[in-house]
Amino acid sequence: MPIYEYGCYDCHKRVSVFFRSISAAENGTAHCPRCGGTNLKRLVSRVARIRSEDERLDALADPANLGGFDENDPKSLAKFMKTMTREMGDEIGDELGPEFDEVVDRLEKGQSPEEIEKEMPELGENMPGGGGAPAADDWFG
Ligand SMILES: [Zn+2]
Repeated sequence: MPIYEYGCYDCHKRVSVFFRSISAAENGTAHCPRCGGTNLKRLVSRVARIRSEDERLDALADPANLGGFDENDPKSLAKFMKTMTREMGDEIGDELGPEFDEVVDRLEKGQSPEEIEKEMPELGENMPGGGGAPAADDWFG
């Protein structure tokens, strides 16, 4: 769901406006959630980043990209993690490091995330759903 930042000329506040889809945001009229006014100026500097992340997340949320993701199936999880890193780009792959590749390998061989975590205790919090859940910032920059 796209979220855009606007400046409202009516109430002089910076507001976030939610749209059902990117096309609705492009073609529709933004209404200020504070005062209901339509005299809004989109704050372009923030939009590009939010929108590109949002498009990536939309792609991730599309079940077709995940091929029937089953979080209890290690092979499915491996596929999901590969898809995710591909969508996120090289920078996050570098950030996650070689351990991440090994985790994916182990998942593809059918090991459960719990087993992998036991055998690779140094992984800790980088595992999705294992250890402490990572902050969104860790995954999405
Ligand atoms: Zn307003």
